[in-house]
Amino acid sequence: MTETTPSIDPSPTREAGRIVNALSFDIEDWFHLVEIESVSDTDRWPGFPTIVERRTDEILGICDEFGVKATFYFLGWIADRYPELVRRTADAGHEIGTHSYWHRKVCDLSPAEFEEDLKRSIAAIEDAGGARVTSFRAPSFSITPGTEWAFDTLLDAGLDYDASLFPVPRENGGYPCSVAPHVFRGAPSGRSIPELPMSLMQLGPRKVGFSGGGYLRLFPGWLIRRGFEALQRQGLPGVVYLHPRDLAPDSPVVPMSFSRRFKCYVGLSTTASKLRMLLGRYAFAPCGEVLRHALGEDVAA
Ligand SMILES: [Zn+2]
Repeated sequence: MTETTPSIDPSPTREAGRIVNALSFDIEDWFHLVEIESVSDTDRWPGFPTIVERRTDEILGICDEFGVKATFYFLGWIADRYPELVRRTADAGHEIGTHSYWHRKVCDLSPAEFEEDLKRSIAAIEDAGGARVTSFRAPSFSITPGTEWAFDTLLDAGLDYDASLFPVPRENGGYPCSVAPHVFRGAPSGRSIPELPMSLMQLGPRKVGFSGGGYLRLFPGWLIRRGFEALQRQGLPGVVYLHPRDLAPDSPVVPMSFSRRFKCYVGLSTTASKLRMLLGRYAFAPCGEVLRHALGEDVAA
């Protein structure tokens, strides 16, 4: 594996003495779960009840309450069905990214399949929202060791940066790398691409996620704050990543193993208040802005 080189000047990530953290949302519906048999048939998706529009509007409202802009990584499939949701998000001044078209794991696809899916998602999202897609987040952080070709596909598609790497192994993905914003230099072509990896905190002997998805739903507010404050002491931004279903206690429950069910459904009623707590306490900006500040001239504006 090619070593990634953290290239960070901590000072520009501070705004009036505060670290500016990254706020992001992966916009998919409750049934966009990887490797769950009962929701894997894409022909059935249009017939399922939906929470994505209502809960994304709730997220947009919370951002508005705090005057904060974020990056919204839309599924192309969602953009094709709810183009006005993409447009509302772009019109509100948020950054727009892609979360793929079909929500398939990158490490399960061939390079050609990934390219086809990525291009289709970008076209759907840009057609819907009229805003340029700047960046990518892989479903389930599924750019894994051996899948570095995906970075060349992202560059060929004209994207500015990636926000897919989860720096420790996890159920469906993970890629060992620095937690600092850095320039990823391991693409097979030799080209480099700016990377905003997910955040980790030290919990006992392990480094774990704490700032998004099931981790944020599971962990109490004080522990999440401890994670943010540890990053701030190192001069590093935290990266919040949430989904509409993370805010949806009324989300339909899908049959799955006990451990997966716990991860998918724990703490749903606590997410909105934890998000408001974080937005009230810390400074946030879209991922692209945080990355540009961290890397300076390495990232095109
Ligand atoms: Zn997803």
